Amino acid sequence: MTERVEVAVVGGGLAGAAVATALARAGRDVVVIERQPVWRWRACGVFSSPASVVELARLGLDAGTIRQVGRSIPAMRVETPGGTTFRLTYGSESEQAAGAIGFDRSGLDDALLRLAQEAGADVRRGTTVVSLDLPRSAGTREPTTLGIEGGRRIQARVVVGADGIRSVVARAAGVARRARLPPRIGLTYHLKGDDDSAHDARMVVIPGGYCGIAPVPGGLVNVGIVLEDRVRLRQLESDGAAAVTESVVAALPPLPDGGFEPWRTGSRVEPVAGAWPLGHRVSRRAGDGWLLVGDAAGFLDPFTGEGIHRALVSARLAAAAIGGHLAGRSGALPAYERAMSNRFSGKDVVSWLVQMFLGRRALFEYAARRLASRPAERQTMSLVMSDLVPARGALDPRFLAALLVP
Ligand SMILES: Cc1cc2nc3c(=O)[nH]c(=O)nc-3n(C[C@H](O)[C@H](O)[C@H](O)COP(=O)(O)OP(=O)(O)OC[C@H]3O[C@@H](n4cnc5c(N)ncnc54)[C@H](O)[C@@H]3O)c2cc1C
Repeated sequence: MTERVEVAVVGGGLAGAAVATALARAGRDVVVIERQPVWRWRACGVFSSPASVVELARLGLDAGTIRQVGRSIPAMRVETPGGTTFRLTYGSESEQAAGAIGFDRSGLDDALLRLAQEAGADVRRGTTVVSLDLPRSAGTREPTTLGIEGGRRIQARVVVGADGIRSVVARAAGVARRARLPPRIGLTYHLKGDDDSAHDARMVVIPGGYCGIAPVPGGLVNVGIVLEDRVRLRQLESDGAAAVTESVVAALPPLPDGGFEPWRTGSRVEPVAGAWPLGHRVSRRAGDGWLLVGDAAGFLDPFTGEGIHRALVSARLAAAAIGGHLAGRSGALPAYERAMSNRFSGKDVVSWLVQMFLGRRALFEYAARRLASRPAERQTMSLVMSDLVPARGALDPRFLAALLVP
């Protein structure tokens, strides 16, 4: 038997839950298909900007839940192998925002799926999409058929790929492409032993990669390690993820003046989760009867920390486009592609520049020293990285000259 729905969302992570909430609220018939029967830690990010809190509130997540699933982080302390450090404050010194945030993803992702359900979406956990038959000819408005593990089928007028970096929707649409960065692996887990006081996150650039430490609710810190060089990847194969992550964390320089780090002696609360390859890109984010949101629509690298915020914004823009499409407005889905480009192409350029600097360590050290000694440029960088101001601030020739010209 084939079931028929207006919108099928593949993936019930942040992006999928958010787009389903918005569509169900608008009265649309939405089903969310999520592979995992219950939340389980997977390689993903926790550190985000205050702009994500704004998006969550806009989606209708109440302030109490946001406080419960998020822990305020005054700043991100960036540290280079050469010993330069500086703090990115994510707007906390301005009136604009309250600094960064560390999320408990089990709480946040569950809360958003509940929100989708309360809005009227049909959320099916423990269900996997294994195939997709997209309309063969353009402009026909034929439905897409989704094959569900176990043999059932669902026909949808619109399919949303919210299924992360290995998106089955992106692959079926023929738009999945390899990332342009060299292959890297991401490893993440939580450590116990923190308290819930406010303290900075750390982003420590290490030989062959970097390590992020972010406080999250429940007296935990999240460790996220990205390794990119061959020696590190071979070490991972021979010694295993637990040994490699422990050696990376043990080698992190202690904070000056005995800064607050009780997690250093804390135990791991779950096995290390890995993502490989880390990045992915797509040649298009929308087509006839389908579109991609969140990581499924492309993900570069966690260093610039934009995944969570982008997942929420893309979901909002996608919901508006799908609403228009179902109401018969031609060009509504292609308009999503343009809306995403308008919103994120500047930030993508900044993220690529950061990656370029990271790939040339002498240049990175130089720029880090400049940022450390120049509060105005540091603040611009901080606001751009946190999506609180348009990325053109960091692409302005005056900013680049202040950062780079000796
Ligand atoms: C190591 C690492 C560190 C990161 N650090 C940060 C950070 O500090 N800050 C930040 O903002 N971002 C970070 N990110 C990125 C961030 O985690 C993602 O951008 C965010 O989780 C995207 O959400 P999503 O809903 O698009 O995808 P996901 O959270 O990946 O959700 C996809 C969902 O789809 C489901 N699914 C997949 N395939 C199927 C299928 N065939 N059928 C049914 N369900 C399916 C999955 O089970 C999953 O629940 C990091 C990512 C990694 C890997």
